[in-house]
Amino acid sequence: MHDPAVFRSMHVARFHAEPAIFVAPGRVNLIGEHTDYAEGFVMPAAIDFATLAGISPRTDGKIVLYSENYGQERSFEAAALPTKASQHWTDYPLGVVAILAGEGLAIPGFSLSLWGDVPLGSGLSSSAALEVVTALAVLSLIGVSYPGPVLARLCQRAENEFVGANCGIMDQFISANGAKDHALLLDCRDLSFKLAPIPSHVALVIANTMVKHSVAGGDYPTRRRESEAACAVIASHRPGVPFLRDATLEDLEKWGHEMAPKSLMRARHVISENLRTVAACEALLKGDMAEVGRLMGEAHTSYSQDFEGSCVEADAMVALAQDLPGLIGARLTGGGFGGCTINLVEQSEAAGFAEALAARYANQTGIVPQIHICHASGGAHRLQ
Ligand code: ADP
Ligand code: MG
Repeated sequence: MHDPAVFRSMHVARFHAEPAIFVAPGRVNLIGEHTDYAEGFVMPAAIDFATLAGISPRTDGKIVLYSENYGQERSFEAAALPTKASQHWTDYPLGVVAILAGEGLAIPGFSLSLWGDVPLGSGLSSSAALEVVTALAVLSLIGVSYPGPVLARLCQRAENEFVGANCGIMDQFISANGAKDHALLLDCRDLSFKLAPIPSHVALVIANTMVKHSVAGGDYPTRRRESEAACAVIASHRPGVPFLRDATLEDLEKWGHEMAPKSLMRARHVISENLRTVAACEALLKGDMAEVGRLMGEAHTSYSQDFEGSCVEADAMVALAQDLPGLIGARLTGGGFGGCTINLVEQSEAAGFAEALAARYANQTGIVPQIHICHASGGAHRLQ
């Protein structure tokens, strides 16, 4: 199915119509964790796991959605679409359609085929890829085009308001705006962004600890509250600090003693992580990969010790990578408490690195990890 021609044939066989085909990638965050809701910086890259959408118009007023991943088809009346989520994969494309309709666009009937190789629910953002590819396909059908950042915001709203998942803007933004062989430094305050090259001899090796992170669990909101409480202390002295993005490490030296110890630790992570993320972008722009790797190492220590957002298994995955040939830098990526680590690795060593890391991790934890060798890829676009 990686072959768009095979995907096209599948659509034609099912819907007896020629599709326009679109692709949107998954993503990995290289650095910048829990900085988004502090209006700070993140630096993700789009990866070469992606979701394809084929779309063709219908004349019967129906919207028919088919996912090859689930082998499932669902049919809806375009004039009477569901207004609520139903805990089904169709929530994502229906959410996108609902948000576009809310923008005043008239949505005609269509057939939409979907297939993706972004592992579902592994933290590589198959959901954002699905939303962005659906939005591109539907917009093209009705002859409307939005700039990438606008598209990303609409897709984030589909996930927040329709699906009911409280995600930030990063996933949809990088899926819509990523560039091949580049990372993207995103300013979550105003959505301005900068591309920074990742040399083609560097692979993004993503190692899944197989420990489930739970954004719905209590840890994420607790961490967020703790870091926001630290910000409130700083703001009581220095009113120009509505978010930790605006705070400095000197602020913590001055007023840290007024904060709960955990709040101080969380804030130290967020403030230093913002500095590291901007510095990592500058290092990429200079081609200084050793510095990028060093910053990733510091970021992991801060995430694990100050933010307490890691877990035994993720710490093991990062530690076990350290002396493997080809490693440039390793850290836990994503919301924390499990999930995946991101390893920048020399491409020529990537296969051996992945094999050795998997063996070491299985030996130490008794868990067989999934390891993916990826590369920084382009953002969403039309294929044919
Ligand atoms: P992640 O974004 O980390 O992969 P999420 O739980 O946010 O995990 O999103 C995964 C969900 O997105 C799946 O459970 C499914 O409902 C939906 N999804 C993603 N890709 C597809 C696809 N190709 N076909 C149908 N549904 C998909
Ligand atoms: Mg998701």
